[in-house]
Amino acid sequence: MRFTFWGTRGSIAVPGPDTLRYGGNTTCLQVEPEDGSLVIVDAGSGIRPLGLTLSERDPGEALLLVTHLHWDHIMGFLFFDPLYRPGWRIRVSGWPLALKGLRHLFNSKGADGNFPVGWEDLPAKVEKAREMEPPSFEAHGMEVLTTPLNHPQGGVGFRFSQNGDALVFITDNELSGPGPLEMQDFIAFAAGAKVLVHDAQYLPEEMPARRGYGHSDYAQAVELARQAEVERLILTHHDPARSDEAIDAMVARAREAAAGQFMVEAAREGMTLQL
Ligand SMILES: [Zn+2]
Ligand SMILES: [Zn+2]
Repeated sequence: MRFTFWGTRGSIAVPGPDTLRYGGNTTCLQVEPEDGSLVIVDAGSGIRPLGLTLSERDPGEALLLVTHLHWDHIMGFLFFDPLYRPGWRIRVSGWPLALKGLRHLFNSKGADGNFPVGWEDLPAKVEKAREMEPPSFEAHGMEVLTTPLNHPQGGVGFRFSQNGDALVFITDNELSGPGPLEMQDFIAFAAGAKVLVHDAQYLPEEMPARRGYGHSDYAQAVELARQAEVERLILTHHDPARSDEAIDAMVARAREAAAGQFMVEAAREGMTLQL
């Protein structure tokens, strides 16, 4: 199993000189199981550059797992190149209303709409992956478990397992926040994973003013990684105001908190890891 970050930013895309190293695109993760299938988590603006690399797969198939429908997680879908190529099949799962939300991007009933192309005019076929629905399912040889998240309007986290290795991907989650789950639930969900990718939009000192926003600080993510005994923690959903230098400083503090018990780094656009 291999995975690649195409978007690591929270809230809004922020291209520019301050975000060159960690990237300005919003959430998109490519997961490649052993059979080379295409699995994508979220359609933030990072799905656009991913889509541009897929022409050699024509006509291909993708499984798109949507964590939730907040704008930063679907904003790139309109510009996902395979949608405009005949023969492509895009199967959607994750958040229960994901397909409906993606359709609304194209067919807005408000005013004149927000996009010139209609859903029914898309050359690709986009449909619900009916046999791959939460809470758990099999996808291209991977076992996929899901968890609800502590986030306004909810969200879905994923655990991908293959050949005994697991990747846990949890974004837009307030570990100590209001919501259906406790820290203990997330520890059980991430237990023993080789890699844990978790939301770390904030610093601990920023949290008091942002409780209930549905995001965590790096120290909470470190605590989850420690208690779940993962090998490697990757911080993601970087705050749009956090420059590359500020992310470096956050990682340094997170490494100090981890005290060498596991690896800590920040998700970076273009970063690929093999499990
Ligand atoms: Zn988000
Ligand atoms: Zn969100």
